[in-house]
Amino acid sequence: MTRHAYATLVTNADYARGAAALVRSLKRTGTRAEIVVLHTGGVAPAALAPLEALGVRLVAAGLLATSDAFNERHAREKLHADAPFTKGRKPAFHTPLDNFVKLRLWELEEYERVVFLDADTIVLRSIDRLFSYPEFSAAPNVCESLADFHRLNSGVFVAKPSRSTFAAMLDRLDSPGAFWRRTDQSFLEAFFPDWHGLPVFDNMLQYVWFNLPELWDWTSVRVIHYQYEKPWENGHPKVERLQPLIDLWKAFDADLPVPDPGTLPGPAGMKE
Ligand code: UDP
Ligand code: MN
Repeated sequence: MTRHAYATLVTNADYARGAAALVRSLKRTGTRAEIVVLHTGGVAPAALAPLEALGVRLVAAGLLATSDAFNERHAREKLHADAPFTKGRKPAFHTPLDNFVKLRLWELEEYERVVFLDADTIVLRSIDRLFSYPEFSAAPNVCESLADFHRLNSGVFVAKPSRSTFAAMLDRLDSPGAFWRRTDQSFLEAFFPDWHGLPVFDNMLQYVWFNLPELWDWTSVRVIHYQYEKPWENGHPKVERLQPLIDLWKAFDADLPVPDPGTLPGPAGMKE
């Protein structure tokens, strides 16, 4: 049995579709690591069937047993009012409280290392080297400017499962009055203040395409992360600006041939 696993999380049919594209992309890298999909009871069996057909390990995962007060502080309407999103918009199918279920990967002690990937990512080149990286490794939240380097992005990270770590996390998570404005991302940054930085190429946020085009390098990008608007949404405010990235995601979604990423044209506005 491999002691390495990639893991993602799905709590509804929309993210299950995202996860299927991710799993197809991972398989094309030739990885031998196991692929685990954590899913809540909110995902209908019909939505899980394509993932099952891809041969992943499905692991049922309940919402964390957080207090009513915690759940109310992190309810979608309340969180969006108290900590508004100014850079982009979250799809209607995004429930902030569901994000915390990610922490359940620390319960999977059968793995020595888990590389977590959001269901809105695709992997273009092998990232198996991350299994020899320490906990906690993540890339910076770079999508707009240099200031973004202060923050980590929790869409891709390396973790060492441990039930004792999980218990310590639960203690800290739901401490009196705790409000994690960017949910699991704010929490993980606080829990692992000495996080190790990965290159941006291991978690390239889609907004880099139009905000920081000089950073986009198709010969280096290993993971694309469709943060904020999702490529499977039926039209969204940034569709035109992100069309080439959406087309790439759709090739994985439809299981079509995917071009060698190194041959793709770069973003407009990139210096020669
Ligand atoms: N997620 C989910 N259901 C939700 C919200 C989040 O399954 O209602 C999972 C899914 O894996 C998703 C991740 O948590 O990719 C984080 O949410 P999202 O990617 O939408 O956040 P963003 O990257 O836009 O900040
Ligand atoms: Mn994401």
